[in-house]
Amino acid sequence: GGISIMAGKLTAEQLTKFILYAEWLILSTWWIGDNWSSLMQSVGASHRLQKLEGRIQYADVSFSYPSRPTVPILGGLNLTLHPNEVVAIVGLSGSGKSTVVNLLLRLYEPTDGQILVDGVPLSELDIRWFRERIGFVGQEPRLFRMDISSNIRYGCPREVSNEEVEWAAKQAYAHDFIMSLPDGYNTIVDDALLSGGQKQRVAIARALLRDPSILVLDEATSALDAESEHYVKNVITKFSTDPKARRTVIIIAHRLSPIQAADRIIVMENGNIVEDGKHSELINKHDGLYSRSASDKTRPRLVLN
Ligand code: ATP
Repeated sequence: GGISIMAGKLTAEQLTKFILYAEWLILSTWWIGDNWSSLMQSVGASHRLQKLEGRIQYADVSFSYPSRPTVPILGGLNLTLHPNEVVAIVGLSGSGKSTVVNLLLRLYEPTDGQILVDGVPLSELDIRWFRERIGFVGQEPRLFRMDISSNIRYGCPREVSNEEVEWAAKQAYAHDFIMSLPDGYNTIVDDALLSGGQKQRVAIARALLRDPSILVLDEATSALDAESEHYVKNVITKFSTDPKARRTVIIIAHRLSPIQAADRIIVMENGNIVEDGKHSELINKHDGLYSRSASDKTRPRLVLN
């Protein structure tokens, strides 16, 4: 066939192939031109900020989990968290609290709308850079069979002195219980050693060593005792009042009593924000979910779950 093309005798079939190829080339060039920015975004979102202030905006964010695309979880969520604000998110089980955080950590992408961080779309930020500046403490943080001090140091990219480890543990209200262990900071962690709340405090100390601009804490439901209630309250008070500790803090809470001092309380129901304000404001909305739950003395601890 090649010879006949060279000779200038194109068959109909070759001519059609040639036209189709040329068409494909032109169309694909147009398509890439049109979609260049979104292509580049997905290939290498590389935006870094001088400093992460910690302003987080959910703008009309809708979301379904990819495994259940027909089930809407969030339907047009709008929410702005300000730098250094200490925000508690409460709501019945399944109301979407963890989903809100999963989207911030970019474990999933919104189906619609977008999340802005300091005004920049999250999808454009260098995700590694961003995650390094977020301290995430989950319900069951991973601790390792090594001493507490090494557990606190774990994952920190720089050399950390013993003084710094102690400082972080004090910030996280872990220092006192660590000192009461047989070997203090040198005590080896095993499964039975620490309660759920204590593990979380070690994990908070670990997160604080990296000095994150945003701290996300999912209160352990396995640790709904008086001691851990006290620590959640202290952590909230510390971050909202100590100028040196200030950063944006998001706490997914499972009880109402420890979060009264939060700058803001967000109440979720079925993927929507139904109330948003300070404790004093929400408690006065007598028909509100928060107020009704807080006054339910028959279930004083875990009122929303
Ligand atoms: P809890 O207090 O029990 O942790 P929550 O308020 O954090 O609940 P989410 O975990 O955000 O709620 O869940 C919201 C909805 O999304 C629920 O209906 C849940 O079943 C669903 N869901 C959560 N994770 C997934 C997933 N990975 N795949 C599919 N659906 C999910």
